[in-house]
Amino acid sequence: MIHIDKVRADFPILQQQVNGKPLVYFDNGATSQKPQEVIDAITNYYTTINSNVHRGVHTLSQLATDEFEATRRKLKAHFNPTHEHEIIFTRGTTEGINLVASTLTSLVKSTDEIIISALEHHSNIVPWQLLCERTGATLKVIPMNDKGELLMDVYDELLTENTKIVAVNHISNALGTLNPVEEIIEKAHKVGAWVLIDGAQSCPHLRIDLQALNCDFFTCSAHKMCGPTGIGFLYGKETILNQLPPYHGGGEMIKDCSFEKTTYAELPHKFEAGTPNIADVIAFGTAIDYINKIGLENIEAYEHELLEYGTEQLSKIPGLKIYGTAKNKASVISFNIGNLHPFDVGTIVDKLGVAVRTGHHCTQPIMTRFDIPGTVRASFAFYNTKEEIDVLVSALQKAVMMLS
Ligand code: PLP
Repeated sequence: MIHIDKVRADFPILQQQVNGKPLVYFDNGATSQKPQEVIDAITNYYTTINSNVHRGVHTLSQLATDEFEATRRKLKAHFNPTHEHEIIFTRGTTEGINLVASTLTSLVKSTDEIIISALEHHSNIVPWQLLCERTGATLKVIPMNDKGELLMDVYDELLTENTKIVAVNHISNALGTLNPVEEIIEKAHKVGAWVLIDGAQSCPHLRIDLQALNCDFFTCSAHKMCGPTGIGFLYGKETILNQLPPYHGGGEMIKDCSFEKTTYAELPHKFEAGTPNIADVIAFGTAIDYINKIGLENIEAYEHELLEYGTEQLSKIPGLKIYGTAKNKASVISFNIGNLHPFDVGTIVDKLGVAVRTGHHCTQPIMTRFDIPGTVRASFAFYNTKEEIDVLVSALQKAVMMLS
């Protein structure tokens, strides 16, 4: 159960007014808000233990290293990979996918095939296109139906013994579809392919057990789950990460360095060149603690209630069409109203204090599939309320009046 008043009090940003109205923040798919304890964790690091990690014998460096590595332990406990060293800190989901696509270059042949889906964010399209350009491999796409569900029978046909890797998102940021990743992983493994799951949108809403899921790679961004921007992690199975060359060269990632030959550090350091984003790694750990204090099961149930209520209320607006009506979906409602341009609708509701996303949501192929320039997207988090959905509905009604 979510104690909503208590939860909302944890988020200072939610207490303010925007354009003279109480803020209604429905752009959680883009980034979530941060509770005070996460903000404090960043300040505390710089105020009390700022120093470089893994290097110094002095006390501050050791304290910083302990707190930095504590986050890796928290991520291990939260996501349940087999080993702590399978967690590589990255700048976020985008960098995690690029790390894999880039380091795979030497293992991919021109006869290989890479499968993604019609529901991908540009971050899970472009790195694979670049890999195909470098290697001559072929990119294949699992199509979707009008509800935004992947056509799994076509996936079966796309999989061949040449499939090297399948990369799909767990939840679509544009439509909210929850993809059948367990089935996707099991089938890919049958033909000997690896699977990367883009977990940017699932981590904030679902409990994820990496050993049970059995994917080969998994990526996540802290900022979508109450943590800071510019930090996230890539999970990779130890045996696979050990087959890949380093991504970036530099300090921290070497075992021995000479002009003749350099050998690389063990996991995870092999993939963590340079001074990391220490403060934000530590605050990421605090965000994980915070999410666990609220309880992911409570979050999932509460957000589902918001999704049902939001879908019901928004559907009452004449001419409103929801894109993404999959049976299994997360708390994202993407829509358009008649011929009104999403940008115009978003601008008017913003004046009434409501923050929604408008545009293609970094998923242009989805917009092309539906033959629209973009949508208005309301994405709910566990600190939102049904009353806020009512505010959105009346703001949309005003927008319709003004624009028609
Ligand atoms: N994948 C999905 C499904 C996303 O929603 C996003 C961000 O919106 C990303 C990848 C990229 O995440 P980041 O910008 O944090 O790297």
